[in-house]
Amino acid sequence: MNNVISSNVQDIQISGIRKFYNKVSKYPDAISLTLGQPDFNVPDGIKSALIEAMNENKTGYTSNAGIFELREGISKYLSSLSINYNPDEICLTIGGSEGLMDVFSALVDRGDKVLIPDPAYPAYESCVKIVGGQVINYNLNDDFSIDFDNLENIVKTENPKIIVISYPCNPTGAVLSKKYNERLHKIISENDIIAVSDEMYAALCFNEHYYSVAQFNDIKHKVIVISGFSKMFSMTGLRIGYVCAEDRFMEGIMKVHQYNVSCAPSIVQWAVVEGLKNCMSDAEYMKNEFIKRRDYLYKRLKDIGFNVNLPMGAFYMFPSIRKFGIKSEDFCESLLKEAKVAIVPGSAFGKGGEGYIRISYASNIDKLKLASDRIEEFIKLGSYSK
Ligand code: PLP
Repeated sequence: MNNVISSNVQDIQISGIRKFYNKVSKYPDAISLTLGQPDFNVPDGIKSALIEAMNENKTGYTSNAGIFELREGISKYLSSLSINYNPDEICLTIGGSEGLMDVFSALVDRGDKVLIPDPAYPAYESCVKIVGGQVINYNLNDDFSIDFDNLENIVKTENPKIIVISYPCNPTGAVLSKKYNERLHKIISENDIIAVSDEMYAALCFNEHYYSVAQFNDIKHKVIVISGFSKMFSMTGLRIGYVCAEDRFMEGIMKVHQYNVSCAPSIVQWAVVEGLKNCMSDAEYMKNEFIKRRDYLYKRLKDIGFNVNLPMGAFYMFPSIRKFGIKSEDFCESLLKEAKVAIVPGSAFGKGGEGYIRISYASNIDKLKLASDRIEEFIKLGSYSK
């Protein structure tokens, strides 16, 4: 047997983010700003509830969709963002990652076309390819807003089944404006298309108003939301997320979820019930800290001479390196070797990411200061061309 690995899987790459993260281990004194891993501890209220759930032996399987108390809590939380899903339209998953895989597995037939922004979080493309779908990219403008001429043209000519929308955005830090939310609404209502909206960073939107295509009730039958608590409560390793969708989607999504994992981890579900009740101020605190970190890093990068858009959400900055005339992967390799700072090449997020680097500011200001000092020296000495 020659092809032990399926052609769909052979066709995908391991994540460029992880690839770079793994390289860092060879440089013990390097500062790593690679991962989307906030450095805050899990809020105390969530920790205590987790331990309590364990002590109360709440360790068996839950229902496939997850405990009602958490689905109810999420339903209430989402209504504070003007997004309406009742608890029966919510399924708890093992992180947003499982949610993405469940949704694409449930919806995508071999050859179905799925529109994905370029650059984007790499899992979209890989999940779609694993289930045999065909990826079509749509472009972003220099300010990281959607290039609507390009998008409208692709929707007309390619007849895609799904469009992935990803705000607040990893890797660009962009958020959705009211105007562009309305333009997306128009495209979704006028075309036979399903929107999969990844809102993993919804709690980290720095604008006063949060916009999402899930806020329009008239297209609710065409929208699926994927989100979770990894970033909101700084609990990436505890693996809890959720999918929201109307029945016609949820029935299929639940089948995949059931055969894939049965249910999300029971004690973590109970812990997040407490989180949504009593730890929202912790989430707010972390958001405000991210804003301080963003402001610090943005100023430093501007002063060093980078072209960079001010991120309005998530915790990533995506400066341009075009003016240095070097590929993003080579830039990051040199930065790691010469300056001992690890960041992710923009090319890890798709062709459209070439010419950029992604810096995660999920680390504290001391670390950001040290990294900025090193980057400053690296640029001053022209070490990127070594
Ligand atoms: N979606 C986006 C945009 C992400 O950045 C991530 C994680 O970095 C995920 C989904 C997956 O999140 P989780 O850790 O909950 O699986």
